[in-house]
Amino acid sequence: MPEKVSCNLCGLNNYQLLHIRYFDDKIPITIVKCDNCGLIYTSPKLTKQEMEKLYKENYYYFRSNYTSTYENRDITKAQEIFNRIQKFKKKGSILDIGCGKGWLLRIAQENNWKTYGLEVSRYASNYARKKLGLNVLTGTIAEANFPSQYFDIITMLDVIEHLENPLNDLMKLNKILKKDGLLIIETPHIGSIYYKITRKYWVGFNIFHNYYFSLTTMKKILEKTGFKVIKAVTRPVNFFSTEGLWRLGIQDFILQTLDKFGKAKKIKESVKAVKSKVEISRSKFLLVVNRLNVLLNFPTNCLFAKFNMGDQLLIYAKREEAVEE
Ligand SMILES: [Zn+2]
Repeated sequence: MPEKVSCNLCGLNNYQLLHIRYFDDKIPITIVKCDNCGLIYTSPKLTKQEMEKLYKENYYYFRSNYTSTYENRDITKAQEIFNRIQKFKKKGSILDIGCGKGWLLRIAQENNWKTYGLEVSRYASNYARKKLGLNVLTGTIAEANFPSQYFDIITMLDVIEHLENPLNDLMKLNKILKKDGLLIIETPHIGSIYYKITRKYWVGFNIFHNYYFSLTTMKKILEKTGFKVIKAVTRPVNFFSTEGLWRLGIQDFILQTLDKFGKAKKIKESVKAVKSKVEISRSKFLLVVNRLNVLLNFPTNCLFAKFNMGDQLLIYAKREEAVEE
């Protein structure tokens, strides 16, 4: 029998069942909420073997046929994060945990930062080393051995939700970050408007994720591990856009319904035909769509930003005090 998992944040194991979701091959994932501190997590966890098998077979990021759409999105995001980093510090040493192929590190290196990466995927870390010439280790935070108070910046983007023991890992990061260093974390945000609407069907729920943080639980775990949150924002995702529709599950619902009536293929073909006609002025077309998106989504984006209801949580934390051994 798989074991009940006690709360990583407070150590207790009294929890409420929130949702059961079925993923690949009908694997049930049970999402629970700690009665004591409110942390939302998966219990029981998949076994290490099950996890390894899943990551090997299904995790898009670790595949060699990882598409250019994902790659472009990652490069854009890396540039955006790097611009944010530059507001805090112009130069120094950076460790990117779960660095993937190393896009953020490459940008940092081009801007004269000393760069280090950590990545569990053999494929992605090999790519970072061999193709981009970056200093990237293959392994987990627990396995890595960095000197204490070494880094100015540590980034962990879309990683903390995958960790087995974020509390222990954050304590370790506290030791290797310089006294005035900065930790930047990005993770799916369970306090988002999308979760409130879609609940069990929220896109943040994922077979690879062990933890789902709200702003409150994120602050608690960081305080407990010797950090102080100095800035917390949620990323607005355009509500009225294809991504917004996807996040609400509406896009899938429409496609599935059309599929049932055998219409999906026809519609996809017509969309393709229209797209090929506007190909000549594609950049202009995209510019118009983007401008319309900005206008259309401006009110909801302001509202969601003000009340921290965006679907991704972005946290900046300073090292508060050294954690005792
Ligand atoms: Zn708890």
